[in-house]
Amino acid sequence: MSQAKKGLFDWYFKSNLLVRIMIGLILGAIVGGVLAATTAPGEKIKILPYIVPFGDAFIRLLKMIIVPVVFFTLVVGTSSIQPSRLGRVGVKIMAYYLITTFMAAIIGLILALIARPGMGVNLSVGTGEVKLAANKPISQVILELIPENVFGAFTNNGMILQVIFFALMVGVALAFLRDSKDARIKNAAETVYAFFDGFSEAMYLVVRWIMQYAPIGVFALMVNVFALNGPKVAGPLISVVIVVYVGLVIQAVFVYGGFLTVNKMNPFGFFKKARSPMLTAFVTRSSGGTLPITMKTADNMGVSRGVYSFTLPLGATINMDGTTIYQAVCAVFIANAVGSPLTFSQMVMVVVVCVLASIGTAGVPGAGAIMLLMVLESVGLKVETGSVIAAAYAMIFGIDALLDMGRTCINVTGDLVGTTVVAKSENEFDVEKYNAYTGADIA
Ligand code: ASP
Repeated sequence: MSQAKKGLFDWYFKSNLLVRIMIGLILGAIVGGVLAATTAPGEKIKILPYIVPFGDAFIRLLKMIIVPVVFFTLVVGTSSIQPSRLGRVGVKIMAYYLITTFMAAIIGLILALIARPGMGVNLSVGTGEVKLAANKPISQVILELIPENVFGAFTNNGMILQVIFFALMVGVALAFLRDSKDARIKNAAETVYAFFDGFSEAMYLVVRWIMQYAPIGVFALMVNVFALNGPKVAGPLISVVIVVYVGLVIQAVFVYGGFLTVNKMNPFGFFKKARSPMLTAFVTRSSGGTLPITMKTADNMGVSRGVYSFTLPLGATINMDGTTIYQAVCAVFIANAVGSPLTFSQMVMVVVVCVLASIGTAGVPGAGAIMLLMVLESVGLKVETGSVIAAAYAMIFGIDALLDMGRTCINVTGDLVGTTVVAKSENEFDVEKYNAYTGADIA
């Protein structure tokens, strides 16, 4: 066999994935729209049952991967924090990360409640109605964060919060053991850590494979949505994009601007200096991938290495303010689109779950969209194959690249602002170096 031989599916696998997903979305919308236009109202569209399973397969694949991704990523993320470094800087940066993420969730939720994206869409997929989990009092919801049986939490769909709770405990425990003075314990903990690390990498490889199928899955889901609903569903998607981006700008200007101003730094001067990592994050859609540039920029900005070498990798793993805004907005959109707007206690849940989801989202492209599934399940919007919720989710998924660019940019900006603010408050910051840096180069 000659090496130059071209694979049968090179045109597919070697082309840009994002472009393919967009094509899947647009083609699906067109085919669905044509089917809708050429079928008399009330008449069954005969070809649909053959297309729908391709979309269902995609939803099943995503659901398959969510528990392992969340569990392994969270354990690795939390166990990477050295307890010995959890001194003043650690406490301050954790507080900053949590507060800004919490604010992001509130901003996303309030904006979505004002703009009400998805309201009146009345999405239909031709089968059953929306399945909602029973509404529970908040106290019960909090109590149920604690699993009675860990393995039950893993096997029971919708118990993802229990998985997160357990993963955080395992991660922190592992972090302490990795720091142990006892060589035997330390070694054992490192082995377990390496296992989790390897497994989370493997899970992300599986995610990448699933993504290769995404264009086909999105196509099939879109055909179904547009065939049954007509083109009226395109408008709400545009409103989701606008609401998310407005939220991202508010987070940057008011939340980060506020923190910077309180610390006597000009926000716009700061954003100008930070433009390299911000732009890199925007185009790569990965906080993890942007990390080297974020670190170099922090260095150029005069932040001491001792601070940023700890706070930035931590931020790229657990601090995702842009993702939080996106998830809150999309949760409201999907609830509206399926005709069951969120109740007050579901909104409280959205805030709590989005903050947790931010911790559990890996800094890689598209991770936030997978975590959105978790947010939906936790507020009782069950993403079952063939359900109207799965269809609404697929609509959002189709435009994920667009949303991912903006949210990743804000994720990275948030890490850098927190790092600078904490460094300044700890006198680990060289003001002259900061003032001299223009942001023009990151060399
Ligand atoms: N792409 C984002 C990041 O790397 C995560 C996400 O998908 O929300 O920060």
